[in-house]
Amino acid sequence: MRVMVIGRGGREHSLAQTLAKSPNVSTIYAVPGNAGMEQVAECVAIPETDQAQLVAFAKENEVDLTIVGPENPLLDGLVDRFQEAGLKVFGPSSEAALIEGSKHFAKQLMAKYEIPTAAYEAFTEVEPAKAYIRGKGAPIVVKADGLAAGKGVVVAETVDEACEAVEDMLGNGQFGDASREIVVEEFLAGEEFSLMAFVNGRNVYPMITAKDHKRAFEGDQGPNTGGMGAFAPVPDLAESDYQFAVSSILQPTADAMVEEGRPFVGILYAGLIQTSAGPKVIEFNARFGDPETQVVLPLLENDLDQVFVDVLEGRDPELRWSRSTCAGVVVASSGYPGAYEKGRPVPVIESNHVFVTHAGTEKAEQGYVSSGGRVLLVGAQAERLPEALENVYDYMQQFDGNKDFFYRRDIGLSSIAPASS
Ligand code: ATP
Repeated sequence: MRVMVIGRGGREHSLAQTLAKSPNVSTIYAVPGNAGMEQVAECVAIPETDQAQLVAFAKENEVDLTIVGPENPLLDGLVDRFQEAGLKVFGPSSEAALIEGSKHFAKQLMAKYEIPTAAYEAFTEVEPAKAYIRGKGAPIVVKADGLAAGKGVVVAETVDEACEAVEDMLGNGQFGDASREIVVEEFLAGEEFSLMAFVNGRNVYPMITAKDHKRAFEGDQGPNTGGMGAFAPVPDLAESDYQFAVSSILQPTADAMVEEGRPFVGILYAGLIQTSAGPKVIEFNARFGDPETQVVLPLLENDLDQVFVDVLEGRDPELRWSRSTCAGVVVASSGYPGAYEKGRPVPVIESNHVFVTHAGTEKAEQGYVSSGGRVLLVGAQAERLPEALENVYDYMQQFDGNKDFFYRRDIGLSSIAPASS
């Protein structure tokens, strides 16, 4: 089978690595791919935005299956274009991707179908939004409706801070079209976790849970990032909460999308928070999470290409998960998520104890240089989380004292019981 993976991040590298393990996969095209993906795929320099060229390439090269990684091409209708051309593609239509592309749409859907989430109100005018915030008090959460590259959410500790966010988003058009409308939402307290599922209409096949670490610095300090590390599965989550997340969140959401005439096909990602009243939805994504994918897929024991094909063709896929655990830590450019330097040499040493997925790297004359904020993810699989982390952090020592990069030293620590550390 000839497979095409669209995207250029660590998530797509992980998809390509996993597909490469399958005996059925003969060729992988990574479009545009990254320097690390060249190890397992043929990288093709077509931008994710060039829909016509992507379709033409898939036709000319007899691609049997295409997987779209990032959200922007999904919302722009890339899957629709592939379907119109009679090509097999795994991902949601632009209408279904709206579950990620509009937070107001996602909240309306959850309200209508009684899917547990934070109470909210949506606004297009500054003054009514401020009045609502004053009435509710802080902490309170202000969110831009559309895609804002992970920067469109302000968890405000005070009413003033929340009102300032309203001014920035609605008053000053901070995120352009993405903040023409905002959602103001109740603050929920609890541990966050993610649960992704393969979905085709009403058919939902959940994966294992994962936990991402979004803040830049140790102790969950500093600004939100795309994610600084992750592990899977989440060891301290009760089975009953997992079942609740599947049967009271993922399944009714997939059903709701069918009812609304926007059947969802692809990866439905639920960002969840474990509140005292059980799991509630923080956000939905319409694609694989990054970096969760890099720690979930290594634990899949089936051939991923077959899972995609089965789900697309309406058969129940076989999903077997290793009983071990997987942890990954991101190496980021110093300054990320703010301004950072590119072109710095990235030491990548071969090791049997870890795997490496690339995100912001470029091939240099010798080795690699950095080309993005998140540069690499270093991961390891082991029977238990502490061992996996030990392998990752042993490897990470080579970055100590390197001023060009930083990483968090506390990924997974809060989930390691004192007795087992
Ligand atoms: P992503 O980059 O994952 O797409 P996003 O920009 O869509 O993120 P959210 O995931 O909705 O934003 O929110 C980002 C973070 O803000 C969450 O991971 C969570 O820590 C915090 N957050 C969002 N909503 C709430 C809430 N209602 N209560 C408490 N914290 C929240």
